[in-house]
Amino acid sequence: MEYVITPMATTTLAVAGTQARFPVQNIYCVGRNYADHAIEMGHDPDQEPPFFFMKPAYGILPDQGVMTYPALSADVHHEVELVVALATGGQNIAVESAMDCVYGYGVGIDMTRRDLQAQAKLQARPWEAGKSFLHAAPCSVLTPLEQTGMVDRGSIWLDINGERRQAGDLQQMIWKVPEVISRLSTLFVLQPGDLIFTGTPAGVGPVARGDLIRAHIDGVGELQISVA
Ligand code: MN
Repeated sequence: MEYVITPMATTTLAVAGTQARFPVQNIYCVGRNYADHAIEMGHDPDQEPPFFFMKPAYGILPDQGVMTYPALSADVHHEVELVVALATGGQNIAVESAMDCVYGYGVGIDMTRRDLQAQAKLQARPWEAGKSFLHAAPCSVLTPLEQTGMVDRGSIWLDINGERRQAGDLQQMIWKVPEVISRLSTLFVLQPGDLIFTGTPAGVGPVARGDLIRAHIDGVGELQISVA
């Protein structure tokens, strides 16, 4: 194949137990998938069900990475999330067969320029400026499903400089992983390599230059990054 411009290299993530890498395609995120976080953001989880948005693959920051504090924001927030990595995709995937698409899991942070997101909400505009930027999607080494088994419960937490900021349990998710995959596949064409950030528990808050951030999910792994 001859290209008229040089194609970008594929963004990849490391996988536990192998030198082979996971190629990242699209990044989907679920908004307000934990009731306690929906409430802390001023919403009623019974009235407003979760929904989806996306981030660019260049937002990926690997484990031990150094996040560049993004431009045009003074209020970047952390949201620790279970990340689901897809081995296969498709459309209109049934809830019952959704887990067949899953390659494995990771620990991710949906970094958010909260000030720009708040401005977009007020103006009823899209969220991209709040959610999509360089290093907006820190993600750990992935662990294959065959090693973890189905991950649908367990502690999820995030510490900044050794202090607990977010703590929850995966069982609090409003839409469970199979339902998230099924619903996404009715709206979009899911593809091998897609990542899904599945929502955050309560306790979101600001990150600052110099912070050391550690995120953990039982049975999945850990992510450690710093902010420059
Ligand atoms: Mn989020």
